[in-house]
Formats: sequence, structure tokens, C-alpha cells
Amino acid sequence: RSAGDLIRFLLLQGEMVTATQSLSDEMIELYAAELGAEIRMVDAGQEQEAMLAARYLDVDDTEDEHAVVARPPVVTVMGHVDHGKTLLLDRIRNSNVVAGEAGGITQHIGAYQVELDGGQVTFIDTPGHEAFTAMRARGAGVTDIVILVVAADDGVMPQTIEAIDHAKAAGVPIIVALNKIDRADADPNRVLQQLSEYNLVPEKWGGDTIVVEISALQNLGIDDLLEQILVLAEVLELDANPTGHARGTVLEGHLDVGRGPVATILVQSGTLRVGDSMVAGQAWGKAKALVDDRGNKVDIAGPSVPVQVLGFSEVPSAGDQFRVTNEIASAREVAESREQRLRLAANANRAIGSSGIKLEDLFEQIQKGDVPVLNIILKADVQGSLEALADALGKLGRDEVGLAIIHKAVGGVTENDVALAAASDALVIGFNVRPDRRAREAAELAHVEVRTYEIIYKVIEDIEAAVVGMLKPEY
Ligand code: GDP
Repeated sequence: RSAGDLIRFLLLQGEMVTATQSLSDEMIELYAAELGAEIRMVDAGQEQEAMLAARYLDVDDTEDEHAVVARPPVVTVMGHVDHGKTLLLDRIRNSNVVAGEAGGITQHIGAYQVELDGGQVTFIDTPGHEAFTAMRARGAGVTDIVILVVAADDGVMPQTIEAIDHAKAAGVPIIVALNKIDRADADPNRVLQQLSEYNLVPEKWGGDTIVVEISALQNLGIDDLLEQILVLAEVLELDANPTGHARGTVLEGHLDVGRGPVATILVQSGTLRVGDSMVAGQAWGKAKALVDDRGNKVDIAGPSVPVQVLGFSEVPSAGDQFRVTNEIASAREVAESREQRLRLAANANRAIGSSGIKLEDLFEQIQKGDVPVLNIILKADVQGSLEALADALGKLGRDEVGLAIIHKAVGGVTENDVALAAASDALVIGFNVRPDRRAREAAELAHVEVRTYEIIYKVIEDIEAAVVGMLKPEY
């Protein structure tokens, strides 16, 4: 349509505009309605970023599409506090350090790699599901296998259950490391029984969960555990293309007094080289140096390899996507357009790329033709109400609409629950419990809906209404 047409139309609506003026969203909507046209509002920054990405990032003539090879598994260790995660990670790491190696034992860059007879394994050395789910909420799934550490004397505890639920929600397979079997009061069978209640049935009982008995303290069973990781990795057929530009995820970043911004990148495909132009989140630069987990300078890093990268314009954040670009100018341009987009989004008070689901949005989803699953995280003050609610809610699912309680536990609504909800498009229900301040803030940022109730039937009523609202009309 010509500018003249538009100006005439708006004039009739009582809006005086000139041909050089920007239109408000309302004016655009008005005009679209007049024309019977469909409008798609696109955020300017996002558009620009997509354009730049198409221009620079995906043009990669060094990539050979047939060059896919097996890659090492990336493993995260989870479990309840004090069950031995840190000691296990240290043991695995130290068992693999050759005496006298440069840098050596104390380098903690966020991940490390061990070399075994049957292959390599990459361990994320921040244990726990918090970092795991925070990354996932940002769209970065880096973990292939979860090692669930359960102390044989203590058994399944609240954070064990959380870890199980977080790993399951991410679809990441679990290997159980039954730790502290050296202790006199260790009772492996009792723990296996408890784990079976969470659908982790050990192989020796006919299930498919790999369980390895270990003692991190006495260095028992750790070789067996590593071997099982390799076996599972083979089954998972993990592969990547080592040719072409590197892509990966930022595992951590910090400002180093001498070296400037330093970030640990887990390369996920392609190969990163010193001198490459790169972008991660809003940071960009030329890779000045690459440092491996032993403190050695290296020239390249391929898939599943964690490296510290020097040369960023600023410190990128954990979970940021990392890309190598064709030229330094494009890295800068992409980073700056991202910054602009974030600013625009912040102005519009919107979070980027999150988030949980809102009850009201469910109907919209089904209209789009999706088969919706209402994921629920349930928190309650006492076990009795928790079970009663879980039971009642479980019965509300229909054929057309799934309902899944992806995590339930006694206790207040925490930041962790919100992260899980954001990563899994879930709704959080608190029964006689409230979110703490940090959880409230996180929920607001991630646009996660947290509903609190004091009466059981009110919960049922609301969820049922949502589920019924979700049902496809029958003709
Ligand atoms: P995390 O909180 O899960 O990281 O647990 P830590 O690795 O910090 O271990 C907690 C405590 O349990 C420490 O005092 C460890 O020495 C001890 N511990 C860890 N593994 C074992 C084990 O296999 N046997 C025994 N007896 N103690 C262990």
C-alpha cells in the first residue's frame, strides 16, 4: 500500500500522521484490520539478529557434512548434599592426572576431560541440578549422562528426588553411583528399593538402571563407574561434526585481573582454533588463547572438549551460546545486535526465550494444533496433602491432553522449582506454601506462573477447568 493510502486511512480514524513518521503498534493493527491482513509483530533486534546469523554464522564452507564422528559423553554429577559428589569428581580427576603435569590438579575451569582405555569422558565439575537446570532454562542442554550419587548409608533424600526429576525432565539418562559402601551402616538394598519407587529399577532386579557401588573415599568401584559411562555413551551413539566453525555453550565466565574476560566453552560441534572470531551472548572477540583443563595452552578444541577462551570483549554468562563467525566484524555486529535486542526486550519488560506455561495460555496452544501436556510442579506443606493432591490431579489427564507432575515435594516453592518450570514449560502449584523472595523474583523474570492454594478442591477445580478448556471441541 502506498503511504498516501495509509495516511488517508489514519486521517479518517482521527490520527494525523506524516509519511516519515513511525507507526504505533495500535495504528498498524488498525490498518491491518481494515485491509483484512494478518500482521506479524517482529522485534527489530530479533529480525536483525536473524539476518546477521543467516549472513555470517551459517555460511560455513569449511564444514564437511560427512565428517560426523563419535564424541565423548558429557557427564554431570548430581545428588543430595554430603553424599559425595565433590569427592567423586576430585577422585576421577586426580586418578587421571599424570604426575608432574603443568598446571595440574588445581585448575578448575568448569569442566574437565579424562582419558580412559575405552575413550574419553567430559565431566562438568559444578555438581548438582541447580546449574544443570539453570542452563537448560536458557536453552542450553549440554549434559548427555547424569551420575546420581546416593550415599548407601543415608539413602534417597529430598535433593536426590529433585535430581531424579530434573534429569528426567531433561530426558537425560541416569547412572546411579551408590557411594559410601565402605561405611558400616551402608545398606545398598534399602537404597535400591527406594530408587525403584522412583522408577530407577536396577539391572540386577530386571530394570534398566545401571547401578555401580563405589566408595569415593576409598577409591573403590570408580573404574567400574567410568566403564559404565563409556558403555552407555556407546548405546547413546553420541556424535558430532568436528569440521567447520565451532559451536558450543559457555559453562562459566569471569574477569581475570591479568587476562581480562575469561570464559570456559564446551565445544559441541566443529573445531575451535586460536585466532577464530567468536561471539557468545553479547560478548565478542578473537580467540587470543585457548587453555585446557590442565592449564596447558592448546591450539584447537574439538567436540566435547572444554577450554578456557581468552579474548572476549566482556564476560559472557553461563548458558550463552557460543559461535565462531567468518570475520571479526560480524562477531561484533551479532553481539551488538543481541545487546540491542536484550535492551529492547528489557524495556518492554519481557524475558527472552523463557518460560513456564500459564494456565490461560493452554487453550491457545491447543488451537495451534499442539497436543498440550500440562506439566506441573507440586509443592505442599505436608506429605499427606502432597500425595492427596498428586493423586487427584493425576486423574485429571485426558487422552487429548496430557497432565504430568514432573516434580513433587514437601516444602516451599524455591528458585530451583522455578528454574525447572522455566526449562520444562511447567506450572508451579504451592499448597499451603509460598514462594520465597528469590523464587518470586525468578518467576517474574522467567514468566513462570506460580499459583498458591489453601484448599484442595480449589486446586482441582482450577486445573480441571484448564484441562477442559484445553480439550479440542468435538464436532
Ligand atoms: P557433596 O556435598 O555431595 O559434594 O559431598 P562431599 O564430596 O563434600 O562429601 C561429603 C562428605 O562425605 C565428606 O566428608 C566426604 O569425605 C565424605 N565421603 C564422600 N564419599 C565418601 C565415601 O565413599 N565413604 C565415606 N565414608 N565418606 C565419604
